[in-house]
Amino acid sequence: MADPDVLVIGAGAAGIAAARAVRAAGRSVLVVEARARVGGRVVTDGRLGVPFDLGAAWLHNAEGNPLVPLAGALGFRLVDSDALRREQTRVGGRLATAEEEAAYGAAWDGFAEAVRARVAAGGPDVSVAAAVPRGGDWDATVAAWQGDIIAAAPLERLSLQDFAATALDGRNMLPEAGFGTLLAALAEGLPIRLGAGVRRLRWGGAWAEAEGDFGTIRARAVVVTLPTDVLVAGAVRFDPPLPAEVVQAAQDLPLGQVVKVGFRGVAGLGLPEFSSVDRQVAPGEALVAMSARPFGRDLLACHVGGDAAAALEAAGDAAAEDFMRAEVALRFGAQAARGLRAGPVVTNWMRDPFARGVYSTARVGRAAARGVLAAPLAGGRLCLAGEACHARLAGTVGGAWESGEVAVGNVLAALQ
Ligand SMILES: Cc1cc2nc3c(=O)[nH]c(=O)nc-3n(C[C@H](O)[C@H](O)[C@H](O)COP(=O)(O)OP(=O)(O)OC[C@H]3O[C@@H](n4cnc5c(N)ncnc54)[C@H](O)[C@@H]3O)c2cc1C
Repeated sequence: MADPDVLVIGAGAAGIAAARAVRAAGRSVLVVEARARVGGRVVTDGRLGVPFDLGAAWLHNAEGNPLVPLAGALGFRLVDSDALRREQTRVGGRLATAEEEAAYGAAWDGFAEAVRARVAAGGPDVSVAAAVPRGGDWDATVAAWQGDIIAAAPLERLSLQDFAATALDGRNMLPEAGFGTLLAALAEGLPIRLGAGVRRLRWGGAWAEAEGDFGTIRARAVVVTLPTDVLVAGAVRFDPPLPAEVVQAAQDLPLGQVVKVGFRGVAGLGLPEFSSVDRQVAPGEALVAMSARPFGRDLLACHVGGDAAAALEAAGDAAAEDFMRAEVALRFGAQAARGLRAGPVVTNWMRDPFARGVYSTARVGRAAARGVLAAPLAGGRLCLAGEACHARLAGTVGGAWESGEVAVGNVLAALQ
């Protein structure tokens, strides 16, 4: 292939969107991807015999999510997860009473109202933890959901301004074939070189040059979609180095931690399809969010986030399996836990050198970092993209997708 107009580094959501946008504008593009597959943090695993998304599973903010119409155009079936979800909250091994459910609902409302009021009051950024209620029977459970499960980090480490600006909104859709399957279909036909990790990027002149085991590729402009922690780790040597404020912005948007464990053999849990099961936790106790039997399938996905996820991943797959089995036993009894089949699938996002975590949140006081990371460099010939660059939909596939399109808009303007 002749030197492309635009080189895209990374074939995750941002990279795929960027490549499609360059093509749609009638320019030439090449994507280089370190892994042997496309999709990045969106991948559907088939080892359990049913689709199991190791990374992203839901299309959040469905009303404005660019992937919803794209999925429809390709004939992918999406279901409204919120409408189908059957929620169950447990207190230890029993179901929560109606009174407890009402108190739990009030704690969710109290959290949302406290965030809203503190943001509306203005003033300097604080941690989310500093703004929300604590001490009530259900506050720790809501905090664990909002922090460790949804944001993948504890509320103490999250910027309130960024948390409010990037809060999930609207409906959540589930693709029946798996999100990774959908994203791979959206990448079909694009010029993507797999197994092509970039180690060095020269930029700033009339041509950029990417180097790796594949040799050297020249392009007139580059879109870089590396996750923030991969950037910070220095996996790609930028020559000249990225401006200090850009490196600082990536450091201010660290990736959180999540471990997901997928089991088969869920019949003994007695749950209806699309079940979502949580339980009351005490302050400091890890919360496991369970999603069972999506589309009636024999699948239980157990999800833990934050420091507990980091510790579990470090302890190894067997420890993660044991932890989840103990949680199932606590909620549904030892027999139900024994019914789960051996050989679950356990994720390892933090150990993955091409991800190093799950998705970004801003450190306290650093909500402006997303704008710094997304600002065009070299007059638009070098643009960073990816979920961390999106001021509103950060942490999501839709946000990554849109950031890839925005980066290409800047790149094309520079190439005029
Ligand atoms: C467990 C988990 C659950 C999630 N749940 C959801 C969800 O339900 N809904 C949702 O919307 N989002 C969810 N997310 C977040 C979502 O997956 C990400 O926000 C999104 O996929 C990020 O896309 P990206 O293109 O920015 O980055 P990535 O997908 O990480 O793409 C970057 C690409 O760059 C490649 N790369 C890295 N280094 C190099 C190199 N040196 N050279 C070349 N290529 C390189 C990587 O392999 C990767 O393919 C979840 C993520 C995880 C991990």
